[in-house]
Amino acid sequence: MRLQVLGTAAGGGVPQWNCACPGCTGARANPGWRRRHASIAVQREDGCVLVNATPDVADQIAECAWFAPGRGIAPRVVLTDAELDHTIGLLRLREAAALEVFSTPEVRRALHPFATLLRPYTTLTWHDLDDAIPLSDKRPRYARQDPPAPGWVSAARFREGSRSVVYAPAMGVWSPLIEDADCVIVDGTFWDDEEPRRTGISTRTATEMGHLPIEATMKRLARLPGRCLYTHLNNTNPLVDPAAEQHQVLAELGLEVAADGMVIEL
Ligand SMILES: [Zn+2]
Repeated sequence: MRLQVLGTAAGGGVPQWNCACPGCTGARANPGWRRRHASIAVQREDGCVLVNATPDVADQIAECAWFAPGRGIAPRVVLTDAELDHTIGLLRLREAAALEVFSTPEVRRALHPFATLLRPYTTLTWHDLDDAIPLSDKRPRYARQDPPAPGWVSAARFREGSRSVVYAPAMGVWSPLIEDADCVIVDGTFWDDEEPRRTGISTRTATEMGHLPIEATMKRLARLPGRCLYTHLNNTNPLVDPAAEQHQVLAELGLEVAADGMVIEL
């Protein structure tokens, strides 16, 4: 099994088109800081799957050699939640000969309008996501009228032989089920709980927004046996700056920050 990291940013990307915070300004001045929306490709013997369909999906597929270009390409897409930044790319894939999507029932119901829009363009087949680890009952803002349920936000687990990887770009609660994976790629949206309020992007804390901050998870991750990486960095996260001292804090704990384009062999 192999993974390719296709993007590592939270909603909006880095830089976000309408933002002039230090992270976004830095990314405009330094192309090396840029991060696409968080996504990975997973290649196993039975083929390649895309995890989450972001606004950057077409560029992300183009940069992953495992998705051989051709009009017959029928991507399989695993969705960890129904947030627009993880799903809006489904519409971008309308040229596909066929599209197979794997998600929880809650995510599937929320995205019913997408299925309606795509029906005249491609054959969309929806499957239950078998190896989902529930991580939060937080609904997207557009689905606030729907009831909370454990299936709203999940980690996706992939196994081949004795090897496994867990991908959790949004983690509202810690789950022991992520702990034994050989590779754990988790929510690094915010460095600390006050970051969204301090930077003025929200009146809620990181935890209230459904993202355990890095400060709350790094010591637990450091004790796990597998390789651990943070992804889904918001543009307010100090880690966006490669020179930030927080990189050293993580390195001393044996933790990594995922980078766009990184390939991980398992
Ligand atoms: Zn910004």
